Amino acid sequence: MDLIKNSVLLVDDEPQVLIALEDLLSDEFTVFKAQSPQAALEVVEQQPGIAVVLTDQRMPGMTGDELLTRVHEASNATRMLVTGFADLGAVIRAVNEGRIFAYVTKPWNPDELQIMVRKAAEHYRLAQELVQERTLLHDLMDNVPDGIYFKDRQLRYLRTNRAFARNVSGSQSEKLVGKRLVDLLGPVTDALNAEAEDRRVMSEGLPAQDVLHEFQQNGVTRWISETKAPIRTPTGETIGLVGIARDVTERVQTEAALRRAEEQLLQSQKMEAIGQLAGGVAHDFNNVLSVILGYGEILLEELPKDDPKHGDISVMVGAAQRAAALTRQLLAFSRRRMVQPDIVDLNTIVWGVDKMLRRIIGEDIDLRTMLASSPATVRADPSQIEQIILNLTVNARDAMPKGGTIQIETATVELDERYASQHVGVTAGTYVLLRATDNGTGMDAATQKRVFEPFFTTKEVGRGTGLGLSTVYGIVQQCRGHIVLVSELGRGTTFSIYLPEAEEPAAEPRVRRPQTRPPAGSGTVLVVEDDDEVRQVTVRMLRDQGYKVIDTGKPENARSLALENRAGVDVLLVDIVMPKTSGPQLAEELAEIVPGLRVLYMSGYAGALVDREIKLSSSSDYIEKPFVPSTLAKKIADLLSG
Ligand code: ADP
Ligand code: MG
Repeated sequence: MDLIKNSVLLVDDEPQVLIALEDLLSDEFTVFKAQSPQAALEVVEQQPGIAVVLTDQRMPGMTGDELLTRVHEASNATRMLVTGFADLGAVIRAVNEGRIFAYVTKPWNPDELQIMVRKAAEHYRLAQELVQERTLLHDLMDNVPDGIYFKDRQLRYLRTNRAFARNVSGSQSEKLVGKRLVDLLGPVTDALNAEAEDRRVMSEGLPAQDVLHEFQQNGVTRWISETKAPIRTPTGETIGLVGIARDVTERVQTEAALRRAEEQLLQSQKMEAIGQLAGGVAHDFNNVLSVILGYGEILLEELPKDDPKHGDISVMVGAAQRAAALTRQLLAFSRRRMVQPDIVDLNTIVWGVDKMLRRIIGEDIDLRTMLASSPATVRADPSQIEQIILNLTVNARDAMPKGGTIQIETATVELDERYASQHVGVTAGTYVLLRATDNGTGMDAATQKRVFEPFFTTKEVGRGTGLGLSTVYGIVQQCRGHIVLVSELGRGTTFSIYLPEAEEPAAEPRVRRPQTRPPAGSGTVLVVEDDDEVRQVTVRMLRDQGYKVIDTGKPENARSLALENRAGVDVLLVDIVMPKTSGPQLAEELAEIVPGLRVLYMSGYAGALVDREIKLSSSSDYIEKPFVPSTLAKKIADLLSG
């Protein structure tokens, strides 16, 4: 028994009939009465919860079954008629057409009528439940963010929810009914694959869970994870399928970005490790080469030109110089080479090397330069930027044995937070882009992964050293920039180098003074170098030039030496990296004892400087190890005259 009584509306133009019916039903139902069809309609409008409308058939103005048709438009109440035999034909028709639920003939039997009204009320309750159930289902379907669809055996949509319709075709779900996915997307691979899977699910009778599909929609890729199951009748016949489609594009992209980031991190760690190793080897090597090259040059100078040993020693010195060039490249890669950064305009540099590049690439290759309209200024060593352009160009040339086009561009670009988050070690900001593109052989993925490693080359022995790109990599890293490589086998390669933009305008290009033989030395040089052999050859070079030299391998002795010769020391020639005290530290100390002391740093390796970010003072200069006597002499002479 319901706790709340159902409501019944009684309609009859005869008041006595209404009263009799009310007597009969009021125990069980809440009763409303109306003496005319018009009055009945008003009640229906004001009382939305009426369960049953029981009306006489013959009334002035409107028949009972007409009234019930109107009631049906306004409410879900179950409709019943009380009728005489004369109208039975019309009433039965109304029942058959579903416009009314039941009828009772006059004169009615009270028990029968009660039972009929009770049944009608029950009918109302069930109908209400059905409506509620359906509303709930609709709400559920239309409020979940996932797409839901039902298809028939022919893969036509029977029902879809709002999310599905919106995502698939951007239209309303009703418009999808009767259509197939291929009708909506066209006979594209994505749609055909999805339908093939539908057929498999139905024929095998097994659900498919979380199957990832890639769809192209208006030029964007969307990843959809689908779960499908067959719909079967109780007898086991498959009549269609139901599916849930979840857009997982964001997740897939995030995961891909994460994988990319991991790969980038691994890559940069690998490069860092190789760099450490290369830098360390190069450092020790430079000291060794200093000795070989130094004594070699001294010997060459001392021997008369026509001495038979002259040729042999020249070859030896030449070999040492080649080895020195190699270590220089290694150091550039490991970012441990001393550089002299300046504010430079990439446009100017590209201009400057244009002619040389054309000579290198030959006639079959077309070189095009597209330079930014405004200055593309960065803080870098101009010779290093030239090195980058040169290395990229040479590689492009090698990749186009039958000719082609190399394009070199500069531009100023803004890299935003989004970009920065996708590229390890990149911070957002304004960058200058230097881009070299060729339409040569291109590289496969495996090659692309390794090109920046030192000594990685695909060229035949003698053709490639494998140091070109590692040098580029190191220089770019040292400038706090980054490289993006895009290449496709058979189509070509693009290297995009992003260097942080410098805000100041470019400096005047450094004047390269012609190499003249420096005048014989006069003055005193204090040499501090912990490697004995390097120190000895250096001292020898200076003495040969006519300088007075005091030297020590221990920085801690330098102080007392300087004090003893306070008036005499003109130049401190000091190694940058020494145990205990660094060159710059020592220079600072000695500057207090010897006013006006000039400093020349020697370095084969700027690792410590780079790592500890030591800055050299502006009144100093440096010379890169290994060096030859003439270079050293010139540096000292320049310092003394400057
Ligand atoms: P090397 O030129 O001495 O081989 P690099 O470090 O300059 O050394 O280049 C390494 C490798 O990268 C090359 O051997 C080549 O396989 C590949 N490579 C570099 N640039 C290009 C390019 N523009 N097109 C195709 N392959 C290239
Ligand atoms: Mg190369």
